[in-house]
Amino acid sequence: MKERLKEIKNEALEQIQSAADEKKLQDVRVYFLGKKGQITEVLKGMGKLSKEERPVIGQLANEVRDEITEALESKQTKLEQAALEQQLKEESIDVTLPGRPVQAGGPHLLRNVIRNIEDLFTSMGYAVAEGPEVETDFYNFESLNLPKNHPARDMQDTFFITEELLMRTQTSPVQARTLRKHEGQGPVKIICPGKVYRRDTDDATHSHQFTQIEGLYVDENIRMSDLKGTLNTFAKHMFGEDRAIRLRPSFFPFTEPSVEMDISCKICHGEGCSVCKGSGWIEILGAGMVHPNVLEMAGFDSKKYSGFAFGMGPERIAMLKYGVEDIRHFYTNDVRFLKQFHGV
Ligand SMILES: [Zn+2]
Repeated sequence: MKERLKEIKNEALEQIQSAADEKKLQDVRVYFLGKKGQITEVLKGMGKLSKEERPVIGQLANEVRDEITEALESKQTKLEQAALEQQLKEESIDVTLPGRPVQAGGPHLLRNVIRNIEDLFTSMGYAVAEGPEVETDFYNFESLNLPKNHPARDMQDTFFITEELLMRTQTSPVQARTLRKHEGQGPVKIICPGKVYRRDTDDATHSHQFTQIEGLYVDENIRMSDLKGTLNTFAKHMFGEDRAIRLRPSFFPFTEPSVEMDISCKICHGEGCSVCKGSGWIEILGAGMVHPNVLEMAGFDSKKYSGFAFGMGPERIAMLKYGVEDIRHFYTNDVRFLKQFHGV
């Protein structure tokens, strides 16, 4: 039995030495050390041995098993290292290859339009004011002369969170909030850009979410002519020196009188064409003199103070200025669309 164990050892070491991969090594392990392996086979004959021989053979068998195990482990490590080296060799990086170009992003077209409008108005002394998109019914409607059950609320149905909390339908509540902060002391000169929400079905000109920029100027002796001069400056800055404006009477609950501002059509200069639908004019924004009720509700003396307000949609401005035909392009984030306006 001693001889057989020595043979097993030599055979095993030889086979381990020549094993070419981990699969082969595993086979060797099973063949010699497994439950039905060579060593177990030998030990089955232990019963025939004398009492003195048994521990000697047992110890020898353990030594042989240990040696084979050690050889297996050492070979295993060598095979793993070789495999890693092979992999590294195959996956070597050619540092001389040219790199892939980095895609440079840019601000969204709407962001650029909003920034452009902000720049103009801050240069005229306006401050940029922001407020919450989740607004109270009071600030979004009531403080703007739209009490509960006012029919004009229908035009501005929105997403309600509770009876009193809603997604704001306009940036006007920022005006109301800012007016209150001033505690009846003018001047107040702000523009309020931000996202607003309506219960609208999305189509080429409607979106349930869009942006607005409103402006508010309250001080002593603010007149309609101040509003007209400001809007004229804005229209020429945004659309070109050759554009004329006109004001048409309109209705908003929070201004009196209220107007819509149109600019002359770029294509036909007032003659009438398909772009302006034959009228020669294109509607841009709504404006008006701040309603005395709005001033009084915010704590301003409407006999002493007056003011004007205007509101516009940056989407509409961008669509007119850059010829975008569908409002959904701004929100579906098709890179082919967005890329055209990098750097404008
Ligand atoms: Zn036209």
